[in-house]
Amino acid sequence: MSILVTGGAGYIGSHMVWALLDRGEDIVVVDNLSTGFRWAVPDSVPFVEGDFGDEPLMDELIETHKVTAIIHFAAKIVVPESVSDPLGYYLNNTSKARNLIACAVRRGVKHFIFSSTAAVYGEPKRTPVHEDDPTQPINPYGRSKLMVEQMLADTAHAHDLRYVALRYFNVAGADPKGRTGQSTPNATHLIKVAVQAALGHRKGMDVFGTDYPTPDGSCVRDYIHVSDLVAAHADALRYLRQGGQPLTCNVGYARGYSVFDVIEVVKRVSGVNFPVKISARRAGDPAIIVADNERAREQLGWIWQHDDLETIVRQALEWEQRLHNRQTALI
Ligand code: UDP
Repeated sequence: MSILVTGGAGYIGSHMVWALLDRGEDIVVVDNLSTGFRWAVPDSVPFVEGDFGDEPLMDELIETHKVTAIIHFAAKIVVPESVSDPLGYYLNNTSKARNLIACAVRRGVKHFIFSSTAAVYGEPKRTPVHEDDPTQPINPYGRSKLMVEQMLADTAHAHDLRYVALRYFNVAGADPKGRTGQSTPNATHLIKVAVQAALGHRKGMDVFGTDYPTPDGSCVRDYIHVSDLVAAHADALRYLRQGGQPLTCNVGYARGYSVFDVIEVVKRVSGVNFPVKISARRAGDPAIIVADNERAREQLGWIWQHDDLETIVRQALEWEQRLHNRQTALI
């Protein structure tokens, strides 16, 4: 009996793999290493370099490793890139997910945990946003994920498959034990970019839009520590194993920080006053998105431990420095 983790060499997936190992679970990882790293997966974990949308490969893997649950992380996740390359997003995030779900049904895998996103809400009508609020994504990334939620709901209705779709808010930080972190070289996410600016790994950074209807004009997001997000997956797995019915849950802390708030914390924690330029809005960005997390607390029993932006930033800084040292040592 093992758990198939797609994208297990990536940022969130590698944290999940460590957490599952810590719990003594059997795991198999599939990752095409497009953005992940082989070194991010511990040597003791079976690793297959390949495509999660490759049905014969997934069929074989599910059989060989007696897979009973799939945690599906592998995806393209950059909102502006989804605007310029929608078909790439629909292929990777939607069509290939359909293949993986088909393999799960065919091979009798009954538990499926899906990495969805707050981007399914688009521009929410209220804040914090609740799972039953309208889903009207404003970018192809959000639509590519929403379609998978819909596929899962229809599949669970027709077949013996139960799932939890977790709608991630803004994931940041790194493993408190320093084993893994956000390692993508050209990552575009705010905390990663700000931390790189603080360490002098980039010249400075831009604030994309200061004319949003928010207190300081910059966008507001709900930043959640990656270890707390991973804990929600472990809770979802327990929930499904105990017979839980299909469920869609927000995973965020229910409080928002603006882009300027985040930059201020990164400057304070790092002690570096790096250059910040005000720039035009970025395509596809909603103004405010903050989670209502009652359902995850009540249905999954989710409890978080790292709800502190300073801690998130400190660990992101430590990881970025470690990553830089590692890359310098390899040159
Ligand atoms: N952002 C920014 N400068 C950057 C990166 C991001 O101003 O270098 C803003 C971005 O426009 C958005 C917020 O930070 O308002 C969070 O963006 P991110 O890419 O981290 O996550 P998203 O919310 O798009 O998933």
